[in-house]
Amino acid sequence: MVVTRFAPSPTGYLHIGGLRTALLSYLWARRNNGKFLLRIEDTDFSRNDEAAARAIVEAFKWVGLEHDGEIEYQSSRLAIYQEYAQKLLDEGKAYRCYMSKEELEALREEQTARKERPKYDNRYRDFTGTPPEGREAVIRIKAPLSGTLTVRDGVKGDVVFNVEDILDDFIIARADGTPTYNFVVAVDDALMGVTDVIRGDDHLSNTPKQMVVYEALGFAVPKFYHVPMIHNSEGKKLSKRDGATDVMAYKDLGYLPEALLNFLVRLGWSHGDQEIFSLPEMLELFDPSDINRSASVYNVEKLDWLNAHYIKNTPNDKLCELLEFHGVMLVSHDKREILLDAVKERSKTLVEMAALINEIINRPADFDEAAMKKAYKEESPEILRTFAAALKASEALHLPSDYHHVMDQVVAQMGIGFGKIGQPLRLALMGRLAGPGLDSVMAIIGLDETLARIDALLQR
Ligand code: GLU
Repeated sequence: MVVTRFAPSPTGYLHIGGLRTALLSYLWARRNNGKFLLRIEDTDFSRNDEAAARAIVEAFKWVGLEHDGEIEYQSSRLAIYQEYAQKLLDEGKAYRCYMSKEELEALREEQTARKERPKYDNRYRDFTGTPPEGREAVIRIKAPLSGTLTVRDGVKGDVVFNVEDILDDFIIARADGTPTYNFVVAVDDALMGVTDVIRGDDHLSNTPKQMVVYEALGFAVPKFYHVPMIHNSEGKKLSKRDGATDVMAYKDLGYLPEALLNFLVRLGWSHGDQEIFSLPEMLELFDPSDINRSASVYNVEKLDWLNAHYIKNTPNDKLCELLEFHGVMLVSHDKREILLDAVKERSKTLVEMAALINEIINRPADFDEAAMKKAYKEESPEILRTFAAALKASEALHLPSDYHHVMDQVVAQMGIGFGKIGQPLRLALMGRLAGPGLDSVMAIIGLDETLARIDALLQR
């Protein structure tokens, strides 16, 4: 069975890069009818970081990812780590090191002066004497001393590390008994039965250390897939300045979860030229061995494009529900179908959509001056008055086509081009020259409001 996991260190929110690796891990587990675990790596052990876990679960809920089983907290597994550290001590695969901070510092300075990589010199590796008085010991694991260590990575291929460049007998438990990061990750992945580790390639250099732990404890090494980082357009690691990093901020910004997931799956993975992937489709197609080897570039225009696509394809009832979060209540609006149809084609985000709806529903507070100069001509008042009269004389105006019909009549009667009525009318209705179809706007706001808006412009 394929078992994957998402193992965030608690930062208080779900990072967009984290959601990407979580998504890939989720897809791979689900595709194989396996398990997707959630583990909170609160390795400072000072507290169970419930708030951070809640933030992650909330974001998972929003995008529709579900993890299996209970959330595991490393802070509640201390006894397990201690047991495994003891096991290694008992088997002679780890040892106590009594080196003081000062000694370690002195060694580091010597090595740096010799232009060597600072590393522990194994002085307590085979120590059998009496420990120095009053010294707290740390526990170090015996790492290989020379040769190479190969990470068989499903994305990068075989990555060969020179042991002397990357390893030393590293600490697995501190003097106060608390275990260290690389030790607990390996112990947990092994005990939780994780078969496939999909994570950011900023962890690649940790992997040899974790492999030493697997080896020493006799655990099978999982498959690794180290996913290249998300970069900004300058080729640097994505930061808050490039776009929101908190997943829930995307909800506030009016993105649909489907769009965000689609965006994220395409950051680093592709399937031919296809851009649009529903979750079921991702589930059918995703394979971690197709993850790209090079970094992917965060591009908000792409996200906007996807979001526009998903908005367009969301049923109006659902849009209605989603818009409530953005302060727009349409449940009892009798023209909501016309309204949503008119705006859904022109909105990149739900926030834009809400703004456009408010602009349609509310009488313009003022008129765009530049647009007035350009489009409100000498003959415009006369045309608007004629149109208003024609509206009043018409019966049963309901649909956009009813209003369109009256516009056609006036254009024919006055022998003018459509723009001559369209532009001033648009100014009257929207206060500016852009917006959805005028016939739709009039049908949405109704006859009385249409006349009132025309009047407001004429009075000006
Ligand atoms: N806790 C690590 C992080 O949040 C991830 C460790 C892992 O995936 O192995 O960066």
